[in-house]
Amino acid sequence: MPLHIDTPLLESRHLGLLTGQNIWLKFDALQPCGSFKIRGIGAACEHYARQGKKRFISSSGGNAGIAVAYAGRCLSIPVTVVVPQTTTERAKALIRQENAEVIVHGASWMEANAHAQSLLTAEDAFLHPFDNPLLWQGHATLIDEVAQAGLVPDAVVLSVGGGGLLSGIVEGLKRNGWGHVPVIAAETEGASSLAQSVKAGRRVELAAIDSVATSLGAKQVCEQAFELTKSHPITCAVVSDREALSACERFLADHRVLVEPACGASLSLVYERRAELAGYRNVLVVVCGGVTASLEQIREWMK
Ligand SMILES: *Cc1c(COP(=O)(O)O)cnc(C)c1O
Repeated sequence: MPLHIDTPLLESRHLGLLTGQNIWLKFDALQPCGSFKIRGIGAACEHYARQGKKRFISSSGGNAGIAVAYAGRCLSIPVTVVVPQTTTERAKALIRQENAEVIVHGASWMEANAHAQSLLTAEDAFLHPFDNPLLWQGHATLIDEVAQAGLVPDAVVLSVGGGGLLSGIVEGLKRNGWGHVPVIAAETEGASSLAQSVKAGRRVELAAIDSVATSLGAKQVCEQAFELTKSHPITCAVVSDREALSACERFLADHRVLVEPACGASLSLVYERRAELAGYRNVLVVVCGGVTASLEQIREWMK
């Protein structure tokens, strides 16, 4: 049995009335540990367990680190997550709750990641948060489930950080015969590494991340995600932090599920009735979830 679950696919009356389209929500916020990440991370961890790896190492203080910790507990394999000093108490508690060891090291992710790499032995597996084909294969199961449910989407809306979700969803579209179905890729202004790369015609690296959508905070997207923008219909859509936060609040009111601003970025394209979505009848929104922001935090950011 995989470590992720088959999540509900619901048509949103609230959002449908708002846009006049059929808005389908793939509720990956309901995955164990609260985000889609377990699809890919779970598949990768199972692969490394079969290879005989004795420990999983991650350097993510976000949903990826939490997913690795969960996968390790399920597979009875110890997990070490190295996080920078900037990591919230909430995130550390969520990782420890899965019985993983948390090592706090360095001022930024770069330093935490370097330390994590230095711990690696031949018996360990390193779990990258987005740049690994095993992850993409796992994320692709989301589209397999949509196909099994009998829905043929005219467009798919998702959020982009490092581009692992994008790479997986496109893989899922291709393996279900939907290689022509366009993807609308949402990012926030201060974390728009894909939109800026597409504009520049090369994979750019942002000087800094400036967004409350911390789960989208990869300075550079993976090569695979950027290459896919040349072979698959992918439209970049950039939203403000305020729009992403407001979408979180409205989604909570409409659907009673709290998601991170990273996920709010996708939802805001619907709430703001953005032109990028116009003309599609059946719109599939990947409700990618995320557990690192509390409601208090979201309201604090709104101010
Ligand atoms: C990781 C994450 C993303 C971005 O996924 P990438 O694979 O890095 O593009 C979006 N939303 C949430 C909630 C996440 O945890």
